[in-house]
Amino acid sequence: MTRRMLVAAAALVIPSPLAAAPILAPPPPHFGPGVQPFVSVAPGQIALTHVRVIDGTGAVPVEDATILIDGPKIAAVQPAAAAIAPGYRVIDGSGETVLPGIVGMHNHMFYVARPNLDASGHSEDLRLLPQMTFSAPRLYLANGVTTMRTTGSVEPYADINVKAAIDSGKMVGPHMDVTAPYLEGPGSPFIQMHELRDAAEARATVAFWADQGATSFKAYMHITRAELKAAIDEVHRRHLKITGHLCSVTYPEAAALGIDNLEHGFFVNTQFDPGKQPDACSEGTGTPTLVKMTPGSPEANALIKLLIDHHVAVTSTLPVFEQLVPMHAPLQPRAMAVLTPQARNDYLYLRNLVAERGSSERLKTFAVAYKNDLGLERQFVAAGGLLLAGPDPTGNGGVIPGFGDQREIELLVEAGFTSVEAIRIATLNGATYLGLQDRIGSIAPGKDADLMVVKGNPAEKIADIENVVTVFKDGTGFDSAKLIDSVKGRYGEY
Ligand SMILES: [Zn+2]
Repeated sequence: MTRRMLVAAAALVIPSPLAAAPILAPPPPHFGPGVQPFVSVAPGQIALTHVRVIDGTGAVPVEDATILIDGPKIAAVQPAAAAIAPGYRVIDGSGETVLPGIVGMHNHMFYVARPNLDASGHSEDLRLLPQMTFSAPRLYLANGVTTMRTTGSVEPYADINVKAAIDSGKMVGPHMDVTAPYLEGPGSPFIQMHELRDAAEARATVAFWADQGATSFKAYMHITRAELKAAIDEVHRRHLKITGHLCSVTYPEAAALGIDNLEHGFFVNTQFDPGKQPDACSEGTGTPTLVKMTPGSPEANALIKLLIDHHVAVTSTLPVFEQLVPMHAPLQPRAMAVLTPQARNDYLYLRNLVAERGSSERLKTFAVAYKNDLGLERQFVAAGGLLLAGPDPTGNGGVIPGFGDQREIELLVEAGFTSVEAIRIATLNGATYLGLQDRIGSIAPGKDADLMVVKGNPAEKIADIENVVTVFKDGTGFDSAKLIDSVKGRYGEY
């Protein structure tokens, strides 16, 4: 082969994609002044003694155990009576439970602002998504989230830079799977989103953001089938994954196109919505389909079989839908305290409206849809489907980073899952989807020491999952209360 032939052959080779930073970067050699104040347990050899262990696999809790942490890894889980090798710092965890860190799969970094909102629920036309770069990472970590997917970004460079800052020890926060900007078609209600023009642009957009460091993708409500197909092809060419909050494309269509994951349980499948046109979002945005699709019905069985056959995971985001249930659980005081005064006002205005309009046709219909969704999520899991968990901190402002992740687990228990099943959905299932189940998502020797320590026993009383004391990330313990204190009155502003 001549030199000229070699050059010509090389030109035909498609350049291999740049390698993005991994979701689980190795822990930084030291923490900067922005992180140090939140460290309550320095890394090293640590023995957490007399703890209850809920290991994330769905197994029954182990009582009175010792967890040995050696540097960034879990070294052993042993009975409290077993000898502890010399050199370990002993921390008595009597009365506490250790769980794997939460793997949050719908964890935005922004807040939803409604300009000039009043008590009647009216606000001016623009719905803005201000970035919560300061408060969100702290709130996630404080509440036990050690790995999270951003699941749609409006400030992608900020999210990519935050990940880099966290990974290098400059900022405090969880491991991040950064999602590229929403892949949206024409007709978006959000002025911060780009509207794709065609399939070629969908592919080019994926390629661009993958090169910038995005490790996941999300299709949005107005994307067309052709655009989604092109996006999926490019995402998979790069060995990454793509999820969707869909409307214009139905769940069966998306499954057939090869999507990896669907957001919002079964709430946004439009396949039976009246007036649904191909490639266009329906007026009902999925509610009519969900009302029709009672768990165990032939339609439900067919859909669930299709999703499982195509290996499509489903993300449950119950906290954001709970906001439309009249007289739903009020925000706990600690969560109210992190809101700005304006965000608190707006949340209470919108919460009051739902309470007031509880008997309206719309909310009565929604109540049927909500109930069906809970049943379908259970049916999906029972049939072998991979259910993931995330809060989706949007809606009326009542879903807050971290607190919302805990609420999601509580709502899964209300839906009928056992506590340890719900915890597995929010930990090991997320890790499995990300392909990181050998590193995170459950408590076992050799796995990363990404753990949450809570007071009480969530296996018996799931609300105990809110009582976080310490969150370990790669073997370093972070002080939950201190992190929350540091953002008091800030969520909604920055
Ligand atoms: Zn979302």
